[in-house]
Amino acid sequence: MKLDTKCVQAGYRPKNGEPRTLPIAQSTTFLYETAEEMGDLFDLKKEGFFYTRLANPTLDALEKKVAALDGGVGAMACASGMAATTLAVLNVCNAGDNILSMSTIYGGTYNLFNVTLPRLGIDCRFFHGDETDAELEAMIDDHTRIIFLETVANPAITVADFDRIAAIAAKFGILVMVDNTLATPVICRPLEHGANIVIYSSTKYLDGHAVALGGIIVDGGNFRFEGNPRYPAFNTPDASYHGLVFAKDCGKSAFIVRARVVGMRDIGAQMAPMNAFLTNLGIETLHLRMVRHSANALAVAKLLRDHPAVEWVKYAGLDTDPNYPRAVRYFKDAMAGGMISFGIKGGRAAASKFQKALRLLAIVTHVADSRSCVLHPASTTHRQLSDSDLIAAGISDNLIRLSIGIEDAEDIADDIRNALEESQK
Ligand SMILES: *Cc1c(COP(=O)(O)O)cnc(C)c1O
Repeated sequence: MKLDTKCVQAGYRPKNGEPRTLPIAQSTTFLYETAEEMGDLFDLKKEGFFYTRLANPTLDALEKKVAALDGGVGAMACASGMAATTLAVLNVCNAGDNILSMSTIYGGTYNLFNVTLPRLGIDCRFFHGDETDAELEAMIDDHTRIIFLETVANPAITVADFDRIAAIAAKFGILVMVDNTLATPVICRPLEHGANIVIYSSTKYLDGHAVALGGIIVDGGNFRFEGNPRYPAFNTPDASYHGLVFAKDCGKSAFIVRARVVGMRDIGAQMAPMNAFLTNLGIETLHLRMVRHSANALAVAKLLRDHPAVEWVKYAGLDTDPNYPRAVRYFKDAMAGGMISFGIKGGRAAASKFQKALRLLAIVTHVADSRSCVLHPASTTHRQLSDSDLIAAGISDNLIRLSIGIEDAEDIADDIRNALEESQK
């Protein structure tokens, strides 16, 4: 199956007489006729469903679809994007370990890495991307467990430097984890560019209609945990599974199996079956929507580039953007999705007038759904950050973030053009 077919059909193949569309298994538990069968499931001797905190048929179909889209060996659906990132990180990090992360990551992830994980003894070292290889390598030590990237950083709108980071990670035997939320597998498949684990907030484009919170972890199956001293939890017997050694006994799926049977078992941030159904339904049109999001956003980015009320515009799909060469290299047809950032002339005051004058674009925290929307990060999503943290995250006080939807391109352009004029009055 090609990617477009997988969006529609992967994950769920009904047998004779079964429902044509993915059923919602709205059940916490599953029945077995003997205690022995149930016992084998608990011991991981057999695969099957027994309790929705660990696995559920509706989630399973969604997981198989997203794993297929990315070319991974398995996936795990979680309650939200933040739950996915937290579970993925805790799967390899203990107190005393550290993460190397791009600084221009999503605000929620930044707080997790900068404030919450340090409270658990997991330290995060942020890089901005302009460092030399030697400078990056100097940030790595024996306790570094993850290099964390975002394919398209939000709202800095930079594209990850996959080749360079993958080469450094391979040299040290460190796992590369990529938040691919704003690109989706339609635009970019990080596993093909050296990533090992891909994370989604499915709340965004995968659902695509702003109806269901969710997160997904995809395991590339392309990282060798066995014998790697950085990952003792994968190489020592697990007492809670009768001495199972994940790296040896679970082969290529070690990461995702452990994330489920240890991480999800203990933390329980499972996606709801209804949300898995809605997310799966959303993905059925993902390949169509991402093309339209990208085309509409490119038209808006061009409008902004040429407008006198705009100081600067960041959109990797613009051939004048510094990130354009990476978009060409890593993105399908140099499509760059729906997210744009721009700096309005007149700072905070003009940003406020611009937002008030918009009629089609709505002011919402959410991004990456079918409806176009606008956000001023300095006064909303990133308001907990100090001035120096804001600069590190690539955010200025005149930065406006647009999430361009799939409406008619002319309607979107008219609304933005009008609001830009109003902003300068
Ligand atoms: C929204 C978002 C998240 C967090 O996802 P939730 O589903 O809101 O928890 C993580 N990364 C990126 C890039 C996001 O846009």
